[in-house]
Amino acid sequence: MSGVKRVTETATRIGRHDFGQRVVVTDEGEEICALVRAFNDMLERIESLLNELQQITDNVAHELRTPITRIRGIAETTLKGNGDLDEFREMAASVIDGSDELIEMIGTMLEIARTDSGVAKLTVAPLDIREIAEEAVDLFAPAAEDRRIHIHLSKPPRAVMLLGDRQRLQRVVANLLDNAIKYTPPGGKVTLSITAEAAGAKVEITDTGVGIDEKDIHRIFDRFYRGDKSRSTAGSGLGLSLALAIVRAHGGDITVKTTDSGSTFTVSLPRTSAR
Ligand code: ADP
Repeated sequence: MSGVKRVTETATRIGRHDFGQRVVVTDEGEEICALVRAFNDMLERIESLLNELQQITDNVAHELRTPITRIRGIAETTLKGNGDLDEFREMAASVIDGSDELIEMIGTMLEIARTDSGVAKLTVAPLDIREIAEEAVDLFAPAAEDRRIHIHLSKPPRAVMLLGDRQRLQRVVANLLDNAIKYTPPGGKVTLSITAEAAGAKVEITDTGVGIDEKDIHRIFDRFYRGDKSRSTAGSGLGLSLALAIVRAHGGDITVKTTDSGSTFTVSLPRTSAR
């Protein structure tokens, strides 16, 4: 059978679940081979996107089931109780809290998906990244004080300008600072430092916290992934996924270094190459 015919056959045969099929490459001439390879590459990408989608759907189903089951449990227990009005009030308050958590989780999931896929358009304008850092430090000062954590801001005297989406970059710095405070024991220190680079800016958030296990380090940016050490701390496992999606949409990256005595998250942002 000729190469073109085999591609047509395979394309026709592919049903809803057959994306694992590939067309055999033979030596029938350069053009046919290029077509077959391009077709196989496309199948490879579709297959991996479908697998990723399946994985995300499974995770979402799993992550939503737990809080919904908890909310249902509270309502059921109250209904079986003695009908006391105070108990019903307490139940209503818990249901509202639980629902708010779910609404926020769903909102963040959508924001990650929209940012990752490019559907969410960045609102890009010139900004001084030092201002975003200052605002974040002010915002988190009370939370840090509550936990007796000292926040130190280190920034250059001159503006560090870049083109970016102000609100979204605020979210990145807030998520990283929130984590640094959350995962640092009382009495610790968190340093937020801004550096101007030839190609853009670097934002570094260093803490004297619990650090990240070797086995977790490659997974902490995955949606819903939470390290073993953080199970006792509130969180959804979505903060870093969103931060990375936003930074990548700006053409930048986030890297992490960790030891037993703390972690450093480094955000590199180019000056202009926002999507
Ligand atoms: P969450 O904080 O809600 O669990 P994130 O996506 O923000 O979700 O973080 C994922 C995981 O990465 C956390 O559960 C934690 O295990 C780890 N992590 C993130 N930041 C830090 C940090 N500064 N120190 C130690 N562990 C961290």
